[in-house]
Amino acid sequence: MSFDTLGLHDSLLKALAETGYTEPTTVQAQAIPAALAGGDLMVSSSTGSGKTASFVLPALMRVLAARAAAPLPGPQSDSARPDRRRPAHGRGDGGPRAGAPGAGAGPRILVLVPTRELAIQVAQATASYGRHVRGLRVATIVGGVPYGAQLQALRGPLDVLIATPGRLIDHMASGRARLDQVELLVLDEADRMLDMGFIEPIQHIAAATPATRQTVMFSATFAGFVGRLAGDLLKSPQRIDVASHTEAHADIEQRLHWVDDRDHKNAILDHILTERSVEQAVVFTSTQRDADWLADRLADMGHHVASLHGGHPQGRRNRVLQGLRNRQLRILVATDVAARGIDVPTISHVINYGLPMKEEDYVHRIGRTGRAGRSGLAVTLAERRDSGMVHRIQRYTTQRIPAATIAGLEPKVAEARTGPRPGIRPGARPGGPRGRTGGRPGFGHRPQRP
Ligand code: AMP
Repeated sequence: MSFDTLGLHDSLLKALAETGYTEPTTVQAQAIPAALAGGDLMVSSSTGSGKTASFVLPALMRVLAARAAAPLPGPQSDSARPDRRRPAHGRGDGGPRAGAPGAGAGPRILVLVPTRELAIQVAQATASYGRHVRGLRVATIVGGVPYGAQLQALRGPLDVLIATPGRLIDHMASGRARLDQVELLVLDEADRMLDMGFIEPIQHIAAATPATRQTVMFSATFAGFVGRLAGDLLKSPQRIDVASHTEAHADIEQRLHWVDDRDHKNAILDHILTERSVEQAVVFTSTQRDADWLADRLADMGHHVASLHGGHPQGRRNRVLQGLRNRQLRILVATDVAARGIDVPTISHVINYGLPMKEEDYVHRIGRTGRAGRSGLAVTLAERRDSGMVHRIQRYTTQRIPAATIAGLEPKVAEARTGPRPGIRPGARPGGPRGRTGGRPGFGHRPQRP
């Protein structure tokens, strides 16, 4: 999937390409077209999933639409214009902005965020994706900083205002913040904002924006108060839930072993399979041939093993699954299709001997372990040529798979020990019981709520 298919303006596609993004993340692929369609959205997506771009890009599309309807005068940049208070553009619906003095200054887009740090990140993302939007006017309004520059920014005109609720309420009380031009209201990390006691400020702020606005709400959960707030603020919202691939694996520890070649891979596999902690294991291969070959090899070594793939008749497949359930088999060597839906709680290990063709399959694979309240270990054996797929899996799950080594079986290539650069900021933490520190998994590491 590429960004080209999402309906974004060329200037945004250009900025994305310059940023180095080649394809949208899952939340982007789902939320961007939905937001562009204009309806309200409830999106469950964790930090690090790429959610910022999923609302910033549709927000910038509104700015671009307004520019097309009423271009900025002259070739000069916006900041060079002498009269910054002059209404710069018509409304997105083509109607004129209200004529009162100072009107027309207010932002079209209002993004509410829980913290100053997040406000800064959203502002940076907006500036980055909007670098080719001429004269883009973005301001942040956050607590803990002097009022002066904020007052100046609020005089407008403004395209995008990114604010924490408390300080924005202060500016509204003094009549400095005008929200009657808001077309799109975004609530980012709504659950955290409510945890911080912002429910009333949010309701007050939303009430100051036009009832015709579009509202997009992001939250890790929509249970309890967040769901109620969504009920108050959103009109027939579409629900987008991409949290499931990223967060459903709390009981599964994931590890990544970089291997030099097939011999090295076999040596690591043999080592793992002789560990006493392996109650039962499913070893995944990329092809049916590999499944048969590997099952034969492991049988020769004395393991109780069978292969399972779509090339076998159903009767045999049923017998193999029965053997796994009644524990006559300790190891199953399987392909993706054949292993879908296997639910055997005693599977303690999933081993990716060959990587899946699709990142979704990784999630299905590792979900064969860690079932029924037990913990499981999912080990991926990857050669250098698999690094692209490892990267895609990490982006899809928004989790880094921690690299591991076995003493005496370390990869020879030093570079491989640390793995490829998956485009993830340092500080991302793995999921899984042993690797978790209680926070949400993600590309980025942000302060967690208390
Ligand atoms: P977010 O969840 O919005 O905080 O994004 C997490 C990180 O992923 C940020 O560092 C973004 O720059 C990065 N990111 C967002 N979208 C993409 C994409 N389509 N491809 C690669 N990286 C991305």
